[in-house]
Amino acid sequence: MEKTEQKDKQYVWHPFTQMQEWVARPQKVIAAAAGIKLIDTEGNEFYDGVSSLWVNLHGHRKAAIDQAIIDQLGKVAHTTMLGLANIPAAELAKQLVDIAPAGLSKVFYSDDGSTAVEVALKMAFQYWQQQGKPGKQKFIALEQAYHGDTVGAVSVGGIDLFHRIFKPLLFTPAHIPTPSCYHCQLAADPATCKMQCATRLEQVLAEHHEEIAGLIIEPLVQAAAGMLMSPPGYLAKIREISRKYNILFIADEVATGFGRTGKMFACEHEGVAPDLLVLSKGITGGYMPLAATLTTDEIYNAFLGDYSDKKTFYHGHSYTGNPLACAAALANLKIFQEEKVLEGLAPKIAVTAAKLQKIASLDHVGDVRQCGLIIGIELMRDKNSKVSYSWEQAMGASVCLQARRHGLLIRPIGDVVVFMPPLASSVDELEQMLTIIESSIREITEVDIANYGS
Ligand code: PMP
Repeated sequence: MEKTEQKDKQYVWHPFTQMQEWVARPQKVIAAAAGIKLIDTEGNEFYDGVSSLWVNLHGHRKAAIDQAIIDQLGKVAHTTMLGLANIPAAELAKQLVDIAPAGLSKVFYSDDGSTAVEVALKMAFQYWQQQGKPGKQKFIALEQAYHGDTVGAVSVGGIDLFHRIFKPLLFTPAHIPTPSCYHCQLAADPATCKMQCATRLEQVLAEHHEEIAGLIIEPLVQAAAGMLMSPPGYLAKIREISRKYNILFIADEVATGFGRTGKMFACEHEGVAPDLLVLSKGITGGYMPLAATLTTDEIYNAFLGDYSDKKTFYHGHSYTGNPLACAAALANLKIFQEEKVLEGLAPKIAVTAAKLQKIASLDHVGDVRQCGLIIGIELMRDKNSKVSYSWEQAMGASVCLQARRHGLLIRPIGDVVVFMPPLASSVDELEQMLTIIESSIREITEVDIANYGS
């Protein structure tokens, strides 16, 4: 076993990882990267098919971002935002406001998606306290939601496997159904259901709106739930219902923001302007930890007063508004403009869609979901009667392992094979990666046919 692998296994505790299994198996150590490929210590190259956990946009070692960080290092790496401002943080806030949906005018920084969600929840809560509506203390979240791993974010989460154990620690939101037609929790027919999943929100609010501070949602795609995608019109509909009942609408675009869905922000697809917008992951192009919670003048103004009013938002972190991270984020936004990244996505999305059609026809692919360059391929033991594989078969993991043997790094969520390539992937590279996915699924599910029958 090589030295780093040994050290890692002896000293490191990995996130979301059963360490007993990790330690028992050979593991790859990444030493370098070039473009959309990662290179291990043995010199093997792999396509970064999940954009290093959905963060990388323009590829690795992107010269303009590298240079922006080096330039900022020549000035100042970090200084607190308590009692001080800094140049990249102020400039980035202006630029984020410029590109955000209408009405969002203020930026509160934090360090990752989870903490930016905490900020949104605490702001929403405190807002109502200061608006003379102290009864509005609860949140509504979607079943199977994932908003991060800090305690507030876990409270509004709904993924049993991750969140169940922490229940005694958490506050309890009201849940509304996951808006996924393939996995409809209401067993409704999409052709005739008139989006009962959205109507549920109206039912809850009609009775309880005086107790509800806000609704938090991952717009268009519930990512960690397995790339579950809401039907067209759902987002706009729940936005409208939230406004009608005077609750705050929190859009968690940690996963969907910065071009992933084909537009800068997922909310734009349905003309939705949230009260709070949560951003992270792609904000620095995948370079540095940074997050931002954007909000409106109306919310910001509710916190104004002198110290005796006790309206200050008492929240912040040591690295809030870190200048290096903000410099990387500014370089990221410049690349979007200069390289016309959004304009260049259409052919990539179209090629992906065409390849996915073929993958959808495989015997053991139950559903293929795509929103821009967010892709979930759901494996099914029997696709016609929607019979899943057993947990022990770990089919999603096996397919991803097979893809790795063919030079593509992807991750499963259960039996959903997740493909989230960097936006910079060329049409050719996308075709190659999808070809690997197709053959990996075939190879693994054919073995399954041999072993278990189809
Ligand atoms: N919200 C959403 C929608 C996410 O997908 C994630 C992470 N996958 C988070 C929040 C948490 O972000 P982080 O892991 O950076 O804390």
